[in-house]
Amino acid sequence: MVQMNANFQKLPGSYLFSEIARRVSAYTEANPDKKLIKLGIGDVTLPLPAAVTAAMHAAVDEMATAGGFHGYGPEQGYAFLRDAIARQDYQDRGVSIQPDEIFISDGAKSDCGNIVDLFGLDNKVAVCDPVYPVYVDTNAMAGRAGDFNEATGRWSNLVYMPCVAENGFLPELPREDVDMIYLCFPNNPTGAAATKEQLLPWVEYANRTGAVLLYDSAYETFITTPGVPHTIYEIPGAETCAIEFRSFSKTAGFTGTRCAYTVVPKALVRQGLSLNAMWNRRQCTKFNGVPYVVQRGAAAIYTPEGRAQVQANLAVYQENARVIREGLAAAGLTVSGGVDSPYVWAQTPNGMGSWAFFDRLLKEANVVTTPGAGFGPSGEGYIRLTGFGEREATRQAVERIRGVL
Ligand code: PLP
Repeated sequence: MVQMNANFQKLPGSYLFSEIARRVSAYTEANPDKKLIKLGIGDVTLPLPAAVTAAMHAAVDEMATAGGFHGYGPEQGYAFLRDAIARQDYQDRGVSIQPDEIFISDGAKSDCGNIVDLFGLDNKVAVCDPVYPVYVDTNAMAGRAGDFNEATGRWSNLVYMPCVAENGFLPELPREDVDMIYLCFPNNPTGAAATKEQLLPWVEYANRTGAVLLYDSAYETFITTPGVPHTIYEIPGAETCAIEFRSFSKTAGFTGTRCAYTVVPKALVRQGLSLNAMWNRRQCTKFNGVPYVVQRGAAAIYTPEGRAQVQANLAVYQENARVIREGLAAAGLTVSGGVDSPYVWAQTPNGMGSWAFFDRLLKEANVVTTPGAGFGPSGEGYIRLTGFGEREATRQAVERIRGVL
């Protein structure tokens, strides 16, 4: 009889988004006349920039010619895209990342999940709480998380780093030794961003102990505050301890088009092994690259027109986040995030539970949010709202919430 991976049975159900969908559909069935506004979504709503679609059209036409047809591409990504990323996202910022340290992929979600292939099962994993669930679940599937405790909402072998109001939603170095440390800035779900000074102790810790930082920077383009680093490699020493994940999903509307990249510096070596060489081996074995047409579309983001169009879309989401942040604060809620991030993290009034407040906003304001408790125990007492909605609907939703409060 085949032996199955028993770790899958330890996973709790994907409660958060299915439970939200269940409550929303129960409410709309009972109240078909009510028009809901969704501010819970993490998906973008604006179409792809014109420079991107023009490049993709041209690439499709190329594919129809004998000379321009592309079959299997390099597993690591085409040089035209890796070169543009190395130059514009890193070297122009004074960071010496090279094209062969950049691996193009179909998503930061896949890469954050697949990276665990590189690490032994006995490593101690540290995650923020609340957290993007992929880091936790992929380690649980691999057998690194131990057992899930329904009562505490925590896995027995993971080290949780609470990110709460008292520490400005920034994790503190764990007291016990940890080996794989997931950091995500700007953060999903809290919207917190970390400065160079706040990141430096993590880089020092990882270099001193031999840990590895797994730095998720999927929301990097939302950074506007001077002094907030755009890449972990702006921190001296990060190239010997950190892997960075980036995505075009929220940057340029690629959530459905799928393109992202991961940086694994050549200087990152553990137990005599190059993580760059290991990731290259892993990708060449299990991945056959991102479509040529999609990579041409992604490369168009690095043209002057592409950049301007991306910035115009970002400005809409940033303005939405501002409207949410300021509107909810004016209504008396304690809010954070929404400045260097599309996410606004709002404390529930009078110590109300996340789900109770979610229900109240659903029924009384007809606005859908995301209960913070779904991202981990320390998310209890919060809701997450996103700036990815339409401009007018976002404004209306904030008005409705203010009316209710
Ligand atoms: N990392 C974080 C923190 C995210 O919130 C998301 C998407 O919501 C991703 C990664 C996934 O990005 P991608 O669409 O590139 O898979």
